[in-house]
Amino acid sequence: MTTAAGASAYEIPQEFADFRETIRQIAQEKIAPRAHDIDASAEYPWDIRELLAENDILGLPFEAEYGGTGTGTLMLSIATEEIAKVCASSSLILMVQDLGTLPIQLFGSDEQKERFLPRCATGELSPAFALSEPEAGSDPASMRTTAVQDGDEWVLNGTKNWITNAGIADFYVVMASTDRENRRIGAFIVEKDRDGFSVGKLEKKMGIKGSPTGSPVFEDVRIPDANVIGDPEKGLGLALGVLQRTRLGAAAQAVGLAQGATDYANAYAKERITFGKPIHEHQGVAFKLADMEARTAAARELTYRASAAADRDEADLAKLTSMAKLIASDVAMWVTTQAVQVLGGYGYVSEYPVERMMRDAKITQIYEGTNEIQRIVISRAMA
Ligand SMILES: Cc1cc2nc3c(=O)[nH]c(=O)nc-3n(C[C@H](O)[C@H](O)[C@H](O)COP(=O)(O)OP(=O)(O)OC[C@H]3O[C@@H](n4cnc5c(N)ncnc54)[C@H](O)[C@@H]3O)c2cc1C
Repeated sequence: MTTAAGASAYEIPQEFADFRETIRQIAQEKIAPRAHDIDASAEYPWDIRELLAENDILGLPFEAEYGGTGTGTLMLSIATEEIAKVCASSSLILMVQDLGTLPIQLFGSDEQKERFLPRCATGELSPAFALSEPEAGSDPASMRTTAVQDGDEWVLNGTKNWITNAGIADFYVVMASTDRENRRIGAFIVEKDRDGFSVGKLEKKMGIKGSPTGSPVFEDVRIPDANVIGDPEKGLGLALGVLQRTRLGAAAQAVGLAQGATDYANAYAKERITFGKPIHEHQGVAFKLADMEARTAAARELTYRASAAADRDEADLAKLTSMAKLIASDVAMWVTTQAVQVLGGYGYVSEYPVERMMRDAKITQIYEGTNEIQRIVISRAMA
């Protein structure tokens, strides 16, 4: 792993540590008590979104000039982790605030930045990032949604799939083919009230149930030129440039899930008695807890290291963020499964949070690029 000359792997300034404490307190006191109901009702938690907005947490993905905290990716990862420790669905509110606006932040015009970013930083507006399609997930270049230029407007047609925030987003950043033959793609901002736009089908899912996932439909949706982000032939590069950063959100979410499950299982193991002593004193359980703690710490180090690389725009960013996402999500899946085992039968029922954490952990191996796709990115960087 190369490191920028003279730069340490990463440093957490006192300001970040203080903000982490504040977010941890909010998460533990106000989000944790809601987590079970958010999962059971499978409803988007508007109250949690308001809470995150009120406490400047939704300002974390944004530069200060657009009303954000200007604190960068490492602080964003720390915040995502703290929220995911208690409720993965709630952490997605913050993750998508980043994912859906990063195309504008990185490639948008000054006018687009002024129009959208300040209102996203306050939490007034929520975005969605619409790349995947029924026939195009890992291979987005094969997408079928089209955008055709008509004077100073563009006309979009197609259906997207698996789009987080479907139905609650105020605008969608939609990737659409502008030249199928040459596999050219553009990125377009579609506000929710455009004629021809509909939310489409919403999914019933295994986990992250408080985060709506759906299939927005575009039928002759007209948008002005002013809503094209960057070069309408370079949208695929734009999307991949965004994802190489935002997959750190999935990594941080995974670290949070793993730590939340470890902490819960550890506390439980000190209370639960079998054969006359707490199960924590049975070596078979204690070693499991030790492995959970150690693997989570390793996943966190890599996630923070890659987040700092994003802040420094390091040359091997894609490889680092893919490694962080791959390792952290596999750790989250393994750790949460162990946590269920530590709780025995109690781990399998919804009264205890670890079964929810195990269901929530699975998605971190799939979205923001499956772990197989992360392995492709890493091995290509090694070639
Ligand atoms: C809850 C949820 C939320 C989501 N949110 C969003 C969102 O907000 N915006 C968005 O655009 N998308 C979103 N997605 C889509 C997600 O990114 C895709 O599901 C993911 O990229 C995989 O695509 P796919 O489901 O079509 O699987 P496929 O691409 O069909 O893959 C199927 C399997 O084949 C493997 N595979 C595919 N190609 C290769 C290869 N070359 N080598 C090895 N293995 C391969 C995959 O890893 C996977 O295991 C979301 C998905 C879910 C489930």
